[in-house]
Amino acid sequence: MVTTHETDKYVYDFAEGNKDLKDLLGGKGANLAEMTNLGLPVPPGFTITTGACQAYLATGREPDGLAGQIEAHLEALERAMGRRLGDPQDPLLVSVRSGARFSMPGMMETVLNVGLNDRSVVGLSEQAGQNDRFAWDSYRRLIQMFGKTVCEVPGEEFEHALDEAKRAKGTHDDLDLDADDLRGLVETYKKIFAKHTGREFPQEPREQLDLAIRAVFESWNAERAILYRRQERIPADLGTAVNVVAMVFGNLGPDSGTGVAFTRDPGSGAQGIYGDYLANAQGEDVVAGIRNTVPLQELERLDKTSYDQLLDIMARLEGHYQDLCDIEFTIERGKLWMLQTRVGKRTAAAAFVIAGQLVDEGLIDLDEALHRVNGAQLAQLMFPRFQLDHEFEAVARGIGASPGAASGAVVFTSARAVELAAEGKSVILVRRETNPDDLNGMIAAQGILTSRGGKTSHAAVVARGMGKTCVSGADEIEVNVPAKRFTVGGRTVSEGDVVSIDGTTGKVYLGEVPVTLSEVVQYFEGSLDPERTDDALVRAVHRIMTHADARRRLAVRTNADTGADAARARRFGAEGIGLCRTEHMFLGDRRELVERLILAASDAERTDALAALLPLQRQDFVEIFREMAGLPVTVRLIDPPLHEFLPPLEQLAVNVAVAQERGEDVAKEEALLAAVRRMHEENPMLGLRGVRLGLVIPGLFAMQVRAIAEAAVAVTRDGGAACPEIMVPLVGAVQELETVRAEAEKIIAEVVGDSGVEVLIGTMIEVPRAALTAGQIAEAAQFFSFGTNDLTQMGWGFSRDDVEGAFFWRYLELGIFGISPFESIDRDGVGRLIRIAAEEGRAARPGLKLGVCGEHGGDPDSVHFFHEVGLDYVSCSPFRVPVARLEAGRAAIETTGSDSR
Ligand code: PEP
Ligand code: MG
Repeated sequence: MVTTHETDKYVYDFAEGNKDLKDLLGGKGANLAEMTNLGLPVPPGFTITTGACQAYLATGREPDGLAGQIEAHLEALERAMGRRLGDPQDPLLVSVRSGARFSMPGMMETVLNVGLNDRSVVGLSEQAGQNDRFAWDSYRRLIQMFGKTVCEVPGEEFEHALDEAKRAKGTHDDLDLDADDLRGLVETYKKIFAKHTGREFPQEPREQLDLAIRAVFESWNAERAILYRRQERIPADLGTAVNVVAMVFGNLGPDSGTGVAFTRDPGSGAQGIYGDYLANAQGEDVVAGIRNTVPLQELERLDKTSYDQLLDIMARLEGHYQDLCDIEFTIERGKLWMLQTRVGKRTAAAAFVIAGQLVDEGLIDLDEALHRVNGAQLAQLMFPRFQLDHEFEAVARGIGASPGAASGAVVFTSARAVELAAEGKSVILVRRETNPDDLNGMIAAQGILTSRGGKTSHAAVVARGMGKTCVSGADEIEVNVPAKRFTVGGRTVSEGDVVSIDGTTGKVYLGEVPVTLSEVVQYFEGSLDPERTDDALVRAVHRIMTHADARRRLAVRTNADTGADAARARRFGAEGIGLCRTEHMFLGDRRELVERLILAASDAERTDALAALLPLQRQDFVEIFREMAGLPVTVRLIDPPLHEFLPPLEQLAVNVAVAQERGEDVAKEEALLAAVRRMHEENPMLGLRGVRLGLVIPGLFAMQVRAIAEAAVAVTRDGGAACPEIMVPLVGAVQELETVRAEAEKIIAEVVGDSGVEVLIGTMIEVPRAALTAGQIAEAAQFFSFGTNDLTQMGWGFSRDDVEGAFFWRYLELGIFGISPFESIDRDGVGRLIRIAAEEGRAARPGLKLGVCGEHGGDPDSVHFFHEVGLDYVSCSPFRVPVARLEAGRAAIETTGSDSR
């Protein structure tokens, strides 16, 4: 139960806050306070805390004391402005804006012009120099925004009425509507409002304000906000703050306007200011991408004084925040006002480039630079790029709003994007502009293409946040949503046709353009020298990776089963193999031998089959040991149930039946079918696999152990070095391991002789019982490697092959977990098993080597956990190795400070 006290402080004047109070005041409120205290021109206002929102959401009513505190702050605001809210002669108007701890662009509500009513609209006109048009336009915007966001009146009805008014006037442009037209529109809007709400549009300004505040609180739980939080992993219980700010107007005429700016290019990180400006407009028009903006530099021509002042403020903000800032501003009749700033969202490339620049500029050190980038960004930079030649000619060019290369079938609605993506298709969502209702489609799509809007439009901001490819403002494209097509340069592209979009260059191609390696992968591959390239990104990545390597305590190994994978992983920085799965060595043209092994009717037949497999396995290991040149290689003895190496039961049964029908000789197939039937298990994942197989099939593990030892000796005798670690899978009891180990040690001693080769024997910890008896198991194991895939499967009792598709969506929806535990380690449950095993294992055998080789080894958050519990290394797929190196470095420094969400 949430208890509130009369004394709780729920409202802060801007002068009372600062940038470090984001938890309490939200990002927007904290930064408005910071700018106020820096002496920048911020319209006066106050912030209602996230705590008030949490209390409201928990109880369904405003907490005690809130109303009185709002009253007091409103009075102070009225005094500061010399105007009263809704005063008929000289009204104070306010905006009511959401602002959570983490930026959620466009996800929650904003209401502008609160305080206007039938009487104060006249006063506003006078205030604006007898500008009736402006006053009535502001009023109709209030009814529209208030109706839609506070009272859930369908927005289309207002838009439809606006279109009607323009049609009656014979124009397409809002600006052609005069004061009388807008006064008429206000009447129509009021009728729409009354029809849907059953009441008149509220004339009492304080009631407008209270309802707007309540609507902002409630918008925290709007469906799109919930979806966005889940996507961005923002906790669901933070709540939003509400900012009540004196209105300033960018729509007072040509000497007014509004814009968004970045202190560096958020796309590439290049130095220099960057932004969009829209004259004679309110802020929402820019962010919504409703009208095409002009580049910010144009402002120098339009209003040099404001432009110079803006540049000056931007330089101050960068110095102050020591990072890329984005800002929203409004110019009201030549006077500049700052409406928002924050450490700006940026693309993955810009994150690296800017972090490097800031080190060069002496603003931050390398630890801080490392803290400001992350593994998810690095992973994005490793995505392929388009490989272009003359065959592909761009049909349109928009703004490269969020980099990447995406191809897919064109769709025009969010719903269709979701539908096709569910069928496994790649889609490109094409819209004139996106709005927050398109979020589902944006998540489902491979890329987003819009015909309107700049780098700061909704589509651009949201796509960048998600790391999705986006081209915005491709205005040669005519989008026709109802007809499900777009036209460009005389060509028509219909739903389902494939296009390719380049989010770096902004180019749009028809058809599917092939892709090539990114520069960053070329750098990791060693084909791009970071000292000699003029590619700023590669230089920055190199510098930060070098620092991460110097800082990290965790070693990074790779999961690789072939020489080729091992070689690539080494180039990517792997310091050994943490998991070599041996099962693929039983497939392909070796199937026949494996069938002989499984079907063997006698010891002799089985021994023969194993003897034939031995040299093949040995050669596999020789290749891997050579590639790894003395780095540790953990080879896991065979794990999956043997029936996986035989044809599926149903298929075999049909083949046998058909062959019998034809009178063919089916003795062999029948034997196979009988074996498959015999081995059939209801729960094969919990059945005869791993160490259990080794204990049941005589000679199987022995053959593998011998192949490993012989390969190590062969490589060593050739002048190389090999450092094998034999790993036993699925151990649950120390006795299992002891049995395998006794036999293995005998073979190893016999093979290794005086070659100097040392072979370690250890175990996977992937059965909960093993974790809980780790102290005993450590007596028999020289190392542990956590198999977090199985440990998650058995820890939760979730079949790893079924549940993600079957019901995880519901668990995610209910917030039972925020992300699949197969993707990111469940710290509380599975993580606890790991902690126990690590502690008890090391207590029994000090210095016990500990690693992890499940999928979690390459997951950024999980890497931090493995660092915390004191593992020695993580092991992951080759492409994840750089990500794990970076995150291991970040885990080691674990500084707190700026956050770039
Ligand atoms: C694991 O269970 O985490 C593991 C690495 O083994 P596999 O995925 O092969 O079962
Ligand atoms: Mg496993």
